Formats: sequence, C-alpha cells, structure tokens
Amino acid sequence: MDIKGKRITILGAERSGVGATRLVKRLGGIPFVSDFASEEKVSASIKFLKDEGIAFECGAHSDSVYDAEFIVISPGVPSNAPVAEEARKKGIRLISEIEFASFYCKGKVIAITGTNGKTTTTTLIDHLINASGRKCYTAGNIGVAFSDVVQEVKPDEFVSLEVSSFQLDHCFTFKPAVSLILNITPDHLNRYQNSFDNYIVSKYRMFQSLDSGDVLILNGDDANLAPEKIKTTSRVKYFSLTKTADSYLKDGVIYTDEGGTKHTYKVSDLFLRGEHNYANVMSSILAVTSAGIKFEDIAPHLASFKGVEHRLEFVAEIDGVKYINDSKATNVDSVWFALRSFEEPLYLILGGTDKGNDYGQIRDLVLDKVKKIFAIGSSAEKVYSYFHREVKVEIKSSLEECISAANLEARSGEVVLLSPACASFDMFDNYEHRGRVFKNAVRELIG
Ligand code: ADP
Repeated sequence: MDIKGKRITILGAERSGVGATRLVKRLGGIPFVSDFASEEKVSASIKFLKDEGIAFECGAHSDSVYDAEFIVISPGVPSNAPVAEEARKKGIRLISEIEFASFYCKGKVIAITGTNGKTTTTTLIDHLINASGRKCYTAGNIGVAFSDVVQEVKPDEFVSLEVSSFQLDHCFTFKPAVSLILNITPDHLNRYQNSFDNYIVSKYRMFQSLDSGDVLILNGDDANLAPEKIKTTSRVKYFSLTKTADSYLKDGVIYTDEGGTKHTYKVSDLFLRGEHNYANVMSSILAVTSAGIKFEDIAPHLASFKGVEHRLEFVAEIDGVKYINDSKATNVDSVWFALRSFEEPLYLILGGTDKGNDYGQIRDLVLDKVKKIFAIGSSAEKVYSYFHREVKVEIKSSLEECISAANLEARSGEVVLLSPACASFDMFDNYEHRGRVFKNAVRELIG
C-alpha cells in the first residue's frame, strides 16, 4: 500500500504506536500521533516525536485524529473507546499495528496467539529457525514492534510474531503464512464486556483471512478450537497431549507427521518441563516444518532451548529445596499447568491483583500437591477464604516474608513455587519486577 504524502493517524504513543509512526515516516506518509494519556505518562515517546518533528497530541483526542487516510490503533486502545467509535461513525478505517506492518513484509510470517504460552512458543520458534541456519526475527507483543523490523526482513527470512487478542481486534486482512492458536481460556475479560465469547471471537480473527496456501495450527485438546468451530479454507494441523494428531504426545514421546514422514522426539531430552511446554514444543515443530524447514534441521536444537525468564524459571536449589519463579502465571490456567509440572511437594505463593479468578479449577491439584500456600497481595483474603479449610494457608505481606518462611519450613526434595494466578500491579510495577524481587530474595538466602 502506497501511503506517500498521506496523513495517517496513530492512536497510542507506546511501543507499537511509536513503531507504526516510524514506519509511516519511512514510507513517506505523514504521521499524526494521538494519545489519551498525559504527556508525563508517555514522556519517552514524546521526546522521540519532538526530536523527529512529528505532529502529536496528548491528554485528549482532538478532531485532527479523523483527518486521516486511515488510523493505526495500538493494542492499548480498546475497540469501544469513544475515539474508535467516532472514527467508525465517520467511516475511517481502524487497523491494528501488526496488520499495518504486515502489508510491508516480504518474509514468511509465523504468527502465534493463545491465552498462555505465546512468548515461550514465539521465542522457541525463533530459536529453532535461527539455530537451523535460517534467519528469523522476533516481534509483536514480545518487545519489538512488528513495524520496527518489517522492512529488514528479506523474502527468504522469517518473522516469529507474537500476537495478543488486543492486536487481533483490529485485524481484517492479516494473513500469516503459518498461524498458531495455542489455547483459549478466560482472561482479559474486562476488555471484552466480560464475555468469554467476545474474547474467543477476537482470537478467531487469526484465521479469518487465511486460504488454502496458508497453514493454521491448533490445539486439539481445546474445545474452543474443535474442527466444527473453525471456519477456514486453510490447511489445518492439530497438536494434542491426549490423542493422535499431526503432532501428539504418547508415553513421553512426541510423534510428528511432516508431510507423510513420521518423526519422534523424547521429551526427556528437553530442558523444558511440564505438559504445557510439550504442547508448546509440538506446536513449534508443526509451525516451523509447515514454514518449510526440515524437522531434521531443528530437532538437534530443541534441547538447547532453556525457556523464558519468569516462566517456570529455575532460580536456585538451597539445601535440597528448589525455588521456581513463575511470576508470568497471571491466570488460573497457567497455574494449573505449573502445578501439573511437579511431582515434589509444593509451597505455593499465590495472590496479587485478582482478575475474577475461579480457584475451583486448581482446587484438586492444590489439595494433591501443595503443602502450604503463602497468600500475598490484594487477593490474599480471597485465597485464604477459598483454601484455608483444606490446605494450610498463611497470609504474608511481602515476597521476602514468604521466602524466609519457606526457607525455615521446606525440606529437602520440596519446591517453593511463585505461580500467583494474578496480575502484579497491587505490589509491583509488573510481573518482571515481581519475578526479580522473588529471585533476589532467594539469592539473599545464599548470601
Ligand atoms: P503468554 O505470552 O501467552 O503470556 P508465556 O509463554 O509468557 O505466555 O507464559 C505465561 C504463563 O503461562 C507462564 O506461567 C507459563 O509457564 C504458562 N504457560 C506457558 N505455556 C503454556 C501453555 N501452552 N498452556 C498453559 N500455560 C502455559
């Protein structure tokens, strides 16, 4: 799409908004950036915009927003925000930053969405492709805006693109060569009028534009992704932890079909642990081989993938007690998988900013595996009242207190697991901050 000399509005001045702005400028368009937040809140971006002489406004949206060929909307701006409603009323197209960037991508895009496992899988796909000797870029919801890398990607190169539901909300023609939906479980429902159905519809946008030349990879164990629910003409491949599929797990072995050729891989050779990670590995194998890279070129590199920080990250072993940082477990589903990843008795640190958690989903696993819960944060009372009749629960006012108590109580062979099922904003800047505080407290024990 030629945007030379055309005015393009960018809504949102955070990472993807700034990336889109840079791309508009490089393509010869005239960007106008508008953010509802105050100038102080987006100060780093504002400095860039000022230095580059780009027109912008902060604190409110003026009518200048609508004087545009189209609007690139950032994932932070809800689709029902008044500014978005008004643009629609005026007949101005709103498109997601990833869709906008994708217009200019010459390489092969592998797009990854799902409620949980996106970052792990996106990073694994990137690792496998680069280790196989081909070039892959990582972008999207994971750190670098797609707009910022898209022009570097050559036709024989790849992009492993993490895509959130917020980014999908304004996709209409987005058409990756390979698309992957890892799972769909309730999360972020506050952005979807508290409707799980609305959230599902957003995830389904991933395949709305695919055709027979594209591949869609889905979780065969997820009822929301069952064949009868998926309307697409693309080729569909399934992975499963429970039944035969294009890639599936049986007795500790991953079986994969690569265009009629069968391959096997023992999960005991992986560094990653937990069934959810085996699902991530199966989906990555299907994605990378569907993108044209041979299984034999990636298989030797599966074992060297060490996972991503704050996702079931091993921190230390002290007197036989292992400390694991799963700060990124911000919903109940990821805690369910975390609990299933351990045979050892657990001291579980749970709590934070609750997003409407239903602990019923993990009750049985907690009763089976958890020796004691340390409850923290604004949801500590909720955690306490749900579990205290059946499991020992102690409310603690900080992660440091949890670690000191666990250090006194846990015995050799047991595990202390931070997997809070909640967002972190009540006590921390973000989940990374929470994870770092946990790790520092553990390292303090070592001295
Ligand atoms: P996302 O980017 O989708 O948030 P991450 O890879 O960052 O996913 O992982 C988030 C949390 O979910 C971590 O606690 C991680 O251990 C857990 N997790 C990773 N993969 C899966 C999966 N396939 N299913 C459920 N939970 C997962």
